[in-house]
Amino acid sequence: MAQEPISHYLCIGCPLGCRLEVDEGPGGDIVEVRGWACKRGDRYARQEHTDPRRMVTTTVRLSGGMWARLPVKTSVPVPKGRIGEVCLQLREVTVPAPVRTGDVVVKNVLGLEADIVATRDAA
Ligand code: SF4
Repeated sequence: MAQEPISHYLCIGCPLGCRLEVDEGPGGDIVEVRGWACKRGDRYARQEHTDPRRMVTTTVRLSGGMWARLPVKTSVPVPKGRIGEVCLQLREVTVPAPVRTGDVVVKNVLGLEADIVATRDAA
């Protein structure tokens, strides 16, 4: 009988860094998560296994300000596989100064239900 795949993840929920194992059943469903010391690790492993997401931090063009670029980030993590598209989209964005930290500079980027927000003031 074929061995079902086991995937390994490192929990980033706290400095303990629990090593997590996810067992998949024949249909690809998660049958067991091991190695966590608290429920955050269980949730993290399931999320990472089925729909890994990341915050995106980058810069966009700034016009009329003291600097040429404005640092920004996503308001929530976006699917890991869409990060390249988000960055390409942001290459087309120019934000007029002034901007305040937390201002939304792109609403609902690519329909991912994540806004792009400024992470510093720019006058
Ligand atoms: S499973 Fe819990 S205790 Fe272990 S690293 Fe993750 S958050 Fe920390």
